[in-house]
Amino acid sequence: MIKVSDNFTLLSPSYLFSEIAKKVSDFQQAHPGVTMIRMGIGDVTRPVCGAAIEALHRAADDEACADTFHGYGPEQGYAFLREAIAAHDYAARGIDINPDEIFISDGAKSDVGNIGDILSPACRVAVTDPVYPVYVDTNVMAGRAGSQSVNGCWSDIEYLPCTSGNGFVPSLPEGNPDVIYLCYPNNPTGTSLTREQLKMWVDYALSHSALILFDSAYEAYITEPDVPHSIYEIPGARRCAIEFRSFSKTAGFTGLRCGYTVVPEDLTGVDSKGVEVSLRRLWLRRQTTKFNGASYVVQRAAEATYTAEGRRQVMETVGYYMGNARMLREGLAAIGLEVYGGVNAPYVWCRAPRGMSSWDFFTLLLEQANVVCTPGVGFGPSGEGYVRFTAFSSREDTRKAVERLSQISVK
Ligand code: PLP
Repeated sequence: MIKVSDNFTLLSPSYLFSEIAKKVSDFQQAHPGVTMIRMGIGDVTRPVCGAAIEALHRAADDEACADTFHGYGPEQGYAFLREAIAAHDYAARGIDINPDEIFISDGAKSDVGNIGDILSPACRVAVTDPVYPVYVDTNVMAGRAGSQSVNGCWSDIEYLPCTSGNGFVPSLPEGNPDVIYLCYPNNPTGTSLTREQLKMWVDYALSHSALILFDSAYEAYITEPDVPHSIYEIPGARRCAIEFRSFSKTAGFTGLRCGYTVVPEDLTGVDSKGVEVSLRRLWLRRQTTKFNGASYVVQRAAEATYTAEGRRQVMETVGYYMGNARMLREGLAAIGLEVYGGVNAPYVWCRAPRGMSSWDFFTLLLEQANVVCTPGVGFGPSGEGYVRFTAFSSREDTRKAVERLSQISVK
């Protein structure tokens, strides 16, 4: 018999989105004339920005000609893109990141999921709760999670609750974790940390020799001045943090696929013999062995998002989705619901009324407004009693959804 990894068999199938799809399709079958508005999806609806499309065409032509053809590229990514990132995402904000510290990939999900390859299987992990499920599931796959309890939590993972009770600011861990996943602006709650709040985490990590894995996929959505755009704005973060970013939600790259990870030169760990090792060197070794680089054409497209025109187009798209977020926030608040997020992130997190559960409120919205959201409990136990709306729909659908939501009774 073929022996498979127990770590993978420990994972139950991800029920959340299939359960949602089933409930929506059952409702649709029972009510064939009804048009549903889907506010649960994490995918974008606006196409890839024009500057990136033009660059894609040009790069495709390069590939057609022997003189300009690009075959295997550098595993770490082309220098033209790493230099553009270092200049625009970091130097322009006064942050010193060397292009050699930047690794281009096919998206933040791959990097956030794969980074555990360079960490000891014995590392103790902490996550905020509710959480982007990739952080937890990839640690189950790596054998770091222990066993699962009835509420879905894993025994060896420390969950840091984020609810309206603590203003969605997690308390510092108590279990002395080696690795802490932070996602700010946050998916799913749409909330953010101020510079002062993030500094507490960097100080904690430095004093406890912990590593922060900082997922910054929604950085472009920050509107408030005291919210840091990068963890490296905080002194000392170069010694304790890896940062992940994505072109998915800025330039519409969810289908094209491109993201990047910053592993600073100053970041070191120790192996089991106590020998100090550079994490950047390990990640480079991992990538050169297991990854052959994002495609040349996609990297040219990503580079184009940093031209003046590309940046203008990205800002326009971000502004469009944030207009949706504002409509959602204001519309939900106007009917008397408690809403969070949506100011520095394209997600709006809404408290179910009258102490309803996430799923009951999901069903009420489905049946009374024909609007599909995501039950918060699907992201972790502290998500119970909340639902998530995304701002990635079209303006028209968002407007219609808000109109329909204004008709429901939440009292
Ligand atoms: N990180 C977070 C928090 C996300 O919400 C997502 C996508 O929804 C990703 C990473 C994945 O990004 P990418 O499309 O670059 O893989």
